[in-house]
Amino acid sequence: MKKNLVFATNNAHKLEEIRAILGDKINILSLNDIDCHADIPETADTLEGNARLKAEYIYQNYGMDCFADDTGLEVEALNGAPGIYSARYAGGAGHDSEANMRKLLSELEGKTNRKAQFRTAICLIEGGEEHLFEGIVHGTILQERRGTAGFGYDPIFQPEGYTETFAEMGNEEKNKISHRARAVQKLVEYLNQ
Ligand code: IMP
Repeated sequence: MKKNLVFATNNAHKLEEIRAILGDKINILSLNDIDCHADIPETADTLEGNARLKAEYIYQNYGMDCFADDTGLEVEALNGAPGIYSARYAGGAGHDSEANMRKLLSELEGKTNRKAQFRTAICLIEGGEEHLFEGIVHGTILQERRGTAGFGYDPIFQPEGYTETFAEMGNEEKNKISHRARAVQKLVEYLNQ
């Protein structure tokens, strides 16, 4: 029988990405699939901590093997900010990408160090045991937006070794080198062992 594994998300793109990589070896269930509609707390002060909180919530309340992810943009000159606050950097309920980029560009005004990294932490709980996986992509925060694809901070993030921003690259190319893809790859290698 195929193994069931909960991915603590309802984000269709993330679900599609992992299902495509895993093929039909493992049955990936979303939060909707297990009828979980709770607002799972993300109150830790690290990406790993937040991923762990989400995975533990599912394991403790549903008794199912599961994994959860958390991602942040970490800017060197801002001591790692916005980090865990990436979605709601500009305040409010969050996910206002325009406002978040505006705030980041203004915080970096006049700074010469524009180095940044996207980092994804994944916490897997399997048979009660916890495993952490990390994916990082290094890059630079540009002075202005370029490109229209992607989401979040993509228009101002240029990955190292590339001349295009994530938003100019388009999803197909981005998904080969992204922080999330790298973390997911490590998870998949582990699951396929
Ligand atoms: P999440 O943990 O995947 O929900 O990501 C938290 C926040 O980080 C998002 O709301 C975005 O602002 C930002 N973010 C995560 N991944 C990306 C990405 O691939 N490109 C741009 N921004 C991202």
